Amino acid sequence: MKRILVTGGAGFIGSHLCERLLNEGNDVICLDNYFTGSKRNILHLLGHPLFELVRQDVTHPYFAEVDEVYNLACPASPVHYQYNAIKTIKTSVMGAINMLGLAKRVKAKILQASTSEVYGDPSIHPQPEDYWGNVNPIGPRSCYDEGKRCAESLFMNYHVQNGVKIKIVRIFNTYGPNMNPDDGRVVSNFIVQALKGEDITIFGDGSQTRSFQYVDDLVEGMLRMMQTPDDFTGPVNIGNPNEFTMTELAQTILDLTGSSSKMVFHPLPADDPRQRQPDISLAQQTLNNWEPKVQLREGLKKTIAYFDDLLSETEG
Ligand code: NAD
Ligand code: UDP
Repeated sequence: MKRILVTGGAGFIGSHLCERLLNEGNDVICLDNYFTGSKRNILHLLGHPLFELVRQDVTHPYFAEVDEVYNLACPASPVHYQYNAIKTIKTSVMGAINMLGLAKRVKAKILQASTSEVYGDPSIHPQPEDYWGNVNPIGPRSCYDEGKRCAESLFMNYHVQNGVKIKIVRIFNTYGPNMNPDDGRVVSNFIVQALKGEDITIFGDGSQTRSFQYVDDLVEGMLRMMQTPDDFTGPVNIGNPNEFTMTELAQTILDLTGSSSKMVFHPLPADDPRQRQPDISLAQQTLNNWEPKVQLREGLKKTIAYFDDLLSETEG
């Protein structure tokens, strides 16, 4: 049994990770300030004898005797991370410093949830880990992108300078149950709009692409990354290479929900990346032949069922 700290544990990905770690017999501390996460996501874990919930902000130091840390605390949706851009930078940078300090002190392994956003609006396609990216350092997405890039730098420097055992994963667009219905990201927006019979809001002409990964595949990849040898730090891309335009995504969601919602077109937000697709060869080589198993339609069906229940609960 390991003692494991998950920051951002009440969020979308964090809640799945906490559940999986508990199912494997670990002692789990879930730390969150509930900015974008919710107690609802972890309600079913509250009675578990090995689960502990801590209300805490990662911008403040926190100490616990643990063996592993998964550092996920950070708003991930553009709407939420731009709501208080300075706080987003503090969360990424001070959060990384505080959690790395903890890992150093108790000699824990620590994994950083980095992002495909470190590649910005990429000029290389698909994106391998050795691509340095194309990020606007002063644009509206920079609080998130540069915060995560600085966090990667901090992780690498704590490793080189202080011998901290670090792992960096670069997560590509991930979706699934426990996303916040007001999250603002494309999959949750389109599903909620389709289920409510509201217009489907496509930004730009809908030809921009993303590659969508189901959350279970990501959690499997993160667990495997944590178990790699200590001299392997990453960064490693974790995502599903199947790439879709936003119009294709909207059409698939309309088909699966049977909704009669109409697609409407809104202006494209500034610096919105044109395309994104992970090169996952490194993950396949280093994470014990890891590869995504759940394809888009199957994952969307499970996510639609989740939102359908949630909406009937809140409307009922
Ligand atoms: P989410 O917003 O659902 O979860 C983030 C969690 O962090 C929330 O529970 C939130 O309350 C918490 N949090 C935010 N600021 C905090 C702070 N200062 N102190 C403590 N807790 C704080 O988002 P998610 O999709 O679950 O993302 C989790 C992590 O994975 C994030 O670090 C995100 O950058 C990264 N990531 C996600 C995706 C994706 O597609 N979902 C892609 C790339 C990277
Ligand atoms: N998007 C959209 N309609 C929405 C929300 C997002 O067309 O209601 C687009 C957005 O402009 C982007 C893509 O969907 O091109 C993915 O957006 P998301 O915020 O989910 O993730 P990110 O841009 O960070 O990859």
